Amino acid sequence: MVIGLGIESTAHTFGAAIVNDKGKILSNVNKTFTTEKGGMNPSDVAKHHRKYADEIILRALSEAKIKEKNLDFITFSQGPGLPPSLVVGKEKAKELASKLQIPLVGSNHICAHLEIGKLLTKTKDPVFVFVSGANTQIIAYESERYRIFGETLDVGMGNALDKFGRDINLGFPAGPKIEELAKKGKYIELPYIVKGMDLSFSGIVTYAIQSHKKGIGKEDLCYSLQETCFSMLTEVAERALAHCNKKEVLLIGGVAANKRLCEMLDKMCKQRKAKFYSAPLKHCGDHAAMIAWQGMLQFKSDKNFLDLDEIDILPKWRIDEVEVSWIK
Ligand code: AMP
Ligand code: MG
Repeated sequence: MVIGLGIESTAHTFGAAIVNDKGKILSNVNKTFTTEKGGMNPSDVAKHHRKYADEIILRALSEAKIKEKNLDFITFSQGPGLPPSLVVGKEKAKELASKLQIPLVGSNHICAHLEIGKLLTKTKDPVFVFVSGANTQIIAYESERYRIFGETLDVGMGNALDKFGRDINLGFPAGPKIEELAKKGKYIELPYIVKGMDLSFSGIVTYAIQSHKKGIGKEDLCYSLQETCFSMLTEVAERALAHCNKKEVLLIGGVAANKRLCEMLDKMCKQRKAKFYSAPLKHCGDHAAMIAWQGMLQFKSDKNFLDLDEIDILPKWRIDEVEVSWIK
C-alpha cells in the first residue's frame, strides 16, 4: 500500500493529511487563520501557519496511526496562492522529504479541488463548476489537460456575494445569509453579464448595492442576485457540457453549499440527460486531504519528483498549465 502526506497552505488554512492509494483519507487536520478585524494580512497568515505547522503535521501522523518512516512521499500545494503562505508549506514539505529521504511532489491546489471532488462523488469525467470565494471557473478535461471553458473576468462568485452582503450589513460570509433572505424575495431585473463563455459579477453587485440605496428591499435583491448570477453560471456550464459532450456536472467550492444553485444546475442537467453532482460540503473548502490525494495521483502516474534544491512556489499556476499524467 502506498501512503502519502499532503500539506495545504495556499491561503487562510494550514493543514496536513494522510491518504492511501485506495483513496482512503486516514487523517485530515486543518487550522484556519481567523481575525476579529476581518481582513487577512498575508504576513500574519504566514506567521499563524509557521506557529502551528509542526503540531498539525504530528497530529496528522498520529491520527492516521502512521509512522514517518512508513510514508512513501510528501506533497504540498505549490500554487496558486498567497506567496507568504505558500512558502511555509514548501519549507515544511522540503524539510520532511529531505529528513525522510522520500520523493517530494508539487500539487496544484485547483486541480486538487477537482480530483477530491471526483474521488468523493465517484464521477468519471465531469464538467466542473468551481465556485469559491476567490475563484469561478468552468473546467473540463479535454486533450490531455484540464481546460478552462469559462471564468470570471473580475471577482469570484463568493466574493461578489460577500461584497454585496458587506454593503447591506449582512456580515461575513454573506453567502448563507443571502440564500436565506432570497427565499422571501421576488424578482427584479439586474444586469446579466456573460461575454462569450466568461462571466462578470462586479457590475451586477454595484447595481444591486445602488438599488438597495434607492430603497429596494434586501430580500428582493438577494433573490434577484442569486437568480441572475446562478443563471449565468448555468448557461456557461450548459454550453461547456454540450461542447465537450460530457454527461456529468460536478459543483465544487464553498458556494456549492447553495441549494438554489444546485437546483438550477440539476434542472439543466436533467434537460440534457446528464447527471448533476455536488461535492460533500465538508470537502468543498480548502483542506489538506485533497492535496494528499492529488499528490497520490501524481506519485503513482509520473516520476517527475521535485528537486529539493530547486523547488519553488508557483503563486500564479493556472490549472490549464498542469501536466495531467494520471488520466489515461
Ligand atoms: P471557499 O472560498 O471555497 O472557502 O468558499 C467561501 C465562499 O462561499 C464565501 O464567499 C461564502 O460567502 C460562500 N458561501 C458559503 N455558503 C454559501 C451559500 N449557502 N450560498 C452562497 N455562497 C455561500
Ligand atoms: Mg481553494
